[in-house]
Amino acid sequence: MADFCNKCTVEMFGENADPDIDVYQIFKDIKPGNYAHIGLCEGCGMDSIGNDGDGKLIYHTVFNEEWFDYRTEYHFNRQEIK
Ligand SMILES: [Zn+2]
Repeated sequence: MADFCNKCTVEMFGENADPDIDVYQIFKDIKPGNYAHIGLCEGCGMDSIGNDGDGKLIYHTVFNEEWFDYRTEYHFNRQEIK
């Protein structure tokens, strides 16, 4: 059973589908400067999300070590997936 994050769920199943990995819900419980492992999104390869300290939702993928802004830079890495 594959799991998908909010935006991958929308891409795969449409606006009305419920995400397996609700990153916005998980994010609510992450304190500033902390992060959480979220399993693995089979769509974008995201495995962790965090709060950058200013309340920005950032994410990390299995494809590299950097963190990106989930709301604006999402799928930045998708072109690099072989
Ligand atoms: Zn995803």
